Amino acid sequence: MHIVDVRATTVTVPLEAPLRHSNGAHWGRFVRTVVEVEADNGLIGLGEMGGGGQSAEEAVRGLREYLVGHDPARTEALRFMLANPTASLYNNRTQLLAAIEFACLDLQGQHLGVPVHELLGGKVRDRVPFASYLFFRYPAADGTGEVRTPEQLVEQARELKARRGFTVHKLKGGVFPPEYELECYRALAEAFPGDRLRHDPNGALSVEDGIRFARAIEDLDNDYLEDPTYGMNGLRRVRERTTIPIATNTVVVNFEQLAANVRDPAVDVVLLDTTFWGGIRPCIRAAGVCETFQLGVAVHSSGELGIQLATMLHLGAVVPNLSFAADAHYHHLTGDVVTGGPLAYRDGAIDVPAAPGLGVTLDRDKLAEYAELYRELGSYPYDRDPGRPGWYPLLPNGSWADPAAAGPVDLAS
Ligand SMILES: [Mg+2]
Repeated sequence: MHIVDVRATTVTVPLEAPLRHSNGAHWGRFVRTVVEVEADNGLIGLGEMGGGGQSAEEAVRGLREYLVGHDPARTEALRFMLANPTASLYNNRTQLLAAIEFACLDLQGQHLGVPVHELLGGKVRDRVPFASYLFFRYPAADGTGEVRTPEQLVEQARELKARRGFTVHKLKGGVFPPEYELECYRALAEAFPGDRLRHDPNGALSVEDGIRFARAIEDLDNDYLEDPTYGMNGLRRVRERTTIPIATNTVVVNFEQLAANVRDPAVDVVLLDTTFWGGIRPCIRAAGVCETFQLGVAVHSSGELGIQLATMLHLGAVVPNLSFAADAHYHHLTGDVVTGGPLAYRDGAIDVPAAPGLGVTLDRDKLAEYAELYRELGSYPYDRDPGRPGWYPLLPNGSWADPAAAGPVDLAS
């Protein structure tokens, strides 16, 4: 089997409502790029990457001359063909490599008639548990879906728990003043006794505010505190002053940083992201390092449609030391590009796909519909807040959103 073509299609899939985060917001939709790698036997492997638009489609097309003629079973070679670490100083291709790796694994699995997890050591679990990923949200265009107050936040969690069965709740913070988010977080703890919690302000707090926040939640059932501040040295200072495990998806995202964290620990839990790390396989290698040094492992979500979700499920299926529920933005979406999608949650978990390859196929009608929506709406600035024109955060941030300021916001500007 060898590769004969590489294609990319950028799509926009609407969210239930705009999701707010420390840098701005997802403006009511995700923009993702679907990658197709076609082999000489007619099989098509699927990949997915974040962001998109013309530049992502062109970046994928630009890999065509590297990939045509390559055997997709030689997955390890891709690392050096596309993203040699010294060459990558000039061409940052890690996320492209990830999308191609997904597609090559999908091709191998389809070719051999086995699910991807069988290529990766075999599954040790049939279902991957997920956390409810709670966001502060602007209202949708129809005025529904706002999450700004502790009551609205608890209601969002209650609805998600009833509908999806989550027993772990992650609050994406870094939006409002830390004392207000503390009130929101404690409201969750009070509303769901017996469930577990995690808070993630995306590194927005100062070291001192991070320590203050950590100490103020030490009595709760916390999985961990995720990126309270930015940087390994700041995280180390927070970690030294709290009993709560510290997690990151921002500053341990490659093997150099993982080694540094082993030698001089700054975090207890590493959130593995199949895109940030350059594929499913590097995440499994990193999980092995974490197993050796007894660091915790969780699965990070950088915003996914069903193809990327499948990569997270196959990763979650094969990593023995997955000691925490995975994260996914997935349940905030209103649709998907995969056949029969969106994939269903049951009791807070999603079944690991059993069909050959990644186990998901493209719904061509949906792909066309969402590609058209992308052409209509275009991209959005992920690192800008539609409700706070002109604002951008410093690190640490000192200029928080006003909890009293209700939506709606103008998403057209
Ligand atoms: Mg995070």
